[in-house]
Amino acid sequence: MATTTGADVWIPTCCGQCYCMCGIKVRVQNGIVTEIEGNPDAPTGRGSICPKGLAGPALLYDPYRVNYPLKRTNPEKGLGVDPKWKRISWDEALDTIVTKLKECKARDPRGLYFQATTTQASEIRFGVIGFMKGFGTPNYWVSGGGLHCGNGAHFMNGIMHMAWSIIPDFAHANYTMNFGCSKGHGAGHSAVQNATQAADARARGNKNVVFDPFQSAQASKAWEWVPIRVGTDGALALGIVNALLNEHGIYDAEYLMYKTNAPYLVRPSDGRYKRDDATKKPLVWDAVDNCPKVFDDPSVTRVQYEDTAHESRSARWRRTSSAARRGTSTRVGPSSRST
Ligand code: SF4
Repeated sequence: MATTTGADVWIPTCCGQCYCMCGIKVRVQNGIVTEIEGNPDAPTGRGSICPKGLAGPALLYDPYRVNYPLKRTNPEKGLGVDPKWKRISWDEALDTIVTKLKECKARDPRGLYFQATTTQASEIRFGVIGFMKGFGTPNYWVSGGGLHCGNGAHFMNGIMHMAWSIIPDFAHANYTMNFGCSKGHGAGHSAVQNATQAADARARGNKNVVFDPFQSAQASKAWEWVPIRVGTDGALALGIVNALLNEHGIYDAEYLMYKTNAPYLVRPSDGRYKRDDATKKPLVWDAVDNCPKVFDDPSVTRVQYEDTAHESRSARWRRTSSAARRGTSTRVGPSSRST
């Protein structure tokens, strides 16, 4: 890109310094990158970028940046041991890798292990996975993510929105709540886009309430910061749910029926599922036949969320016709943990 000489051009592209992939414009003067700014025509960022993105030229021309392959020449390893790196050519590097790969494939392709990170911008992982499949090894791991990365977010995003990642609806919401997270304040996917939208929402009058034990970046910008005690997020959330359900009667019954375990009956004695004695399956209340049934009984007029796409025509007819004749098909009860 930066090889054009005698020219002064702005090149639209994406920042690759994290997985947000903000749209940027790069200024190239006489073959040298001199400036980076946000691209207002790009949906990601809409012209805004973070300081790291702005500092792209400093990274590109960092005198300590490794721009060529290095080979370790000291077989001894350990803390404080000089690896004695030696510069080698790209041909030597590629030949070395190919030789090692061939040896591995001849021995047992499963011996090849590839590790990537979650913050790679180019989604190279999909190409890597294809290569690993072709090579014959399943041993691929994304480090840097692991258990903590999106462990709550992706599941909830999938259940609620059928999406891997979401951003709050800052464009329309008038009241938003952050529970110890900093979406809209520089975190998560599309971080700059989130921050831009959150700033626009604040200017529009959005009231952002932040629940966080310490005055985090998002708390410092909040309309209201609620410094809860450490570890009480869950109690607070359940309290809000309790007030919405039982004091204000505000809930989405259809959503609860089809996408959650809310219709499962719960034992008052211990808050766990009421189960069928014979099958041990959780029970739901069939309001049409007015009796409890196991949740996957085909005669239940309610269908499970997972099964809606595969619901048989007869079951769908039974459900819709029964619902039309008699109203709501099942009772919506409190959800519970599984036993
Ligand atoms: S958030 Fe910053 S580093 Fe990440 S892609 Fe956008 S400008 Fe680049």
